[in-house]
Amino acid sequence: MIRRLYQGVVGETDASETELEKSKADCREGALLKTDSADTLHEECGVVAIHGHPEAARQAYLALYALQHRGQESAGIATADGQRLSNIKGMGLVSEIFTEDVLAKLPGSMAIGHTRYSTTGDSALLNAQPIRVDSTKGLIAIAHNGNLVNLGNIRARLEREGAYFQTTSDSEIIVQLIAHSKANALVDAIADSLSNIDGAFSIVMMTRDRIFAARDPRGFRPLSMGRIKNPDGPDTIVFASETCAFDLLRAEYERDVLPGELVMVTDDGVTSRQYASGLPQSSCVFEHVYFARPDSKIFGRWVQESRDQMGRQLVRESGVPADVVVPVPDSGVTAALGYAEEAGLPFRLGLIRNHYVGRTFIEPEQRVRDFGVRLKLNPVRNLLEGKRVILIDDSIIRGTTSRKIVRMVRGAGAKEVHLRISCPPTISPCYYGVDTPSKRELIAAQKSVEEIRQFIEADSLAYLSLEGLLKSCKGEHTPGYCTACYTGNYPTQWVDVDEILPASATV
Ligand code: SF4
Repeated sequence: MIRRLYQGVVGETDASETELEKSKADCREGALLKTDSADTLHEECGVVAIHGHPEAARQAYLALYALQHRGQESAGIATADGQRLSNIKGMGLVSEIFTEDVLAKLPGSMAIGHTRYSTTGDSALLNAQPIRVDSTKGLIAIAHNGNLVNLGNIRARLEREGAYFQTTSDSEIIVQLIAHSKANALVDAIADSLSNIDGAFSIVMMTRDRIFAARDPRGFRPLSMGRIKNPDGPDTIVFASETCAFDLLRAEYERDVLPGELVMVTDDGVTSRQYASGLPQSSCVFEHVYFARPDSKIFGRWVQESRDQMGRQLVRESGVPADVVVPVPDSGVTAALGYAEEAGLPFRLGLIRNHYVGRTFIEPEQRVRDFGVRLKLNPVRNLLEGKRVILIDDSIIRGTTSRKIVRMVRGAGAKEVHLRISCPPTISPCYYGVDTPSKRELIAAQKSVEEIRQFIEADSLAYLSLEGLLKSCKGEHTPGYCTACYTGNYPTQWVDVDEILPASATV
């Protein structure tokens, strides 16, 4: 288990430099222990905000708990009581960091929270969020989901203008932009700074007496607004990356924060402005494939419905005779249910996932590299023996994990293993908040589907077509979707050119 580390403070005091140095060293140690799941994709963050609740910290805690799947390396909660702005963050899971004692140190009726996954070199506690910055516009706490793509230019410009950065996170750049804005009113400064950045961001911010929530103009990442009705006073307004967080708070979903919208919540109520408009929406379709929970409604559509349709569409596009449909748990389950129903085949949990495996695991030696998958998944032999198995998964990244799973199912006695993937081949990295390996490490950028089939040792392999995926995610109010990791067509211009060159040119 990762050691629990706290940075953070009640009131105005900052952790001492010695504490921060120690934290950084401890985080490096934590990073060295991280060996698990190198062959899967990771979301980078989940965010929440609460306005007008006597136990705002506890509400933020519950919401973060529901968003734990969006990041498990660090978490933080900042609260405000009109006077003070307190902030506590740590390395580990939400439930590990926020004990009763810790929550008691976070007073106030407003809170923002964050849960984070980050790549190894980045996972220092200093970069955990919310980040609290004392700026020329006052104290601001910020938490951010996504990834900015024009950072280099902006950071260099701000440094020339005298900005001093404490972290390497995108969020601090946003706060520095706010601090350096020529606009006088804070809300104008925020709108001004957001219109200067490009990329994916769903942001929540807090000052001593107000909450802000905003989405980037293309609406890459989800962010929804909900309400807890208070019969005796003003309603509590909540924001969260996914609506599944509202259920735990007994909040009612009200609407999505719109792409390019900045919402402000004060004691006087909710106000909103469009700080940017006119860009085509490009919401992340991979949220529907993998990241978001099936019990969430994102971009105006239930994730469960999309995944069910992906499974059904796979049957129409690439069904083969088989005896049983088996998901790779957990994310393959809903698509597998759709596949089984459409194909008229039995659905069986032929692979069991151990939910108690920690995110860090000290492998004794390199030569036991297969250990990771076997630790997480175990086959149910009597469901697989002698069967023609349709295996449903949501992606193949490097291919090594898929091969281990196919071998595992065959090793348990399956007569045939047909792997079906509920999205198209992943051929390009993501620059918008999903931690993807470089193009040269993506197996689909290097090999044909037939070559991948041979590599993973399946009897057959098929991916969902792009058209099939978009059809599956199409709802009543369907946004335009980003599909760049399947097509290489990026909605923004600011991408690393080396990364999007044909794979052969970068090897
Ligand atoms: Fe989502 Fe892929 Fe676009 Fe990244 S590149 S935002 S993972 S669809």
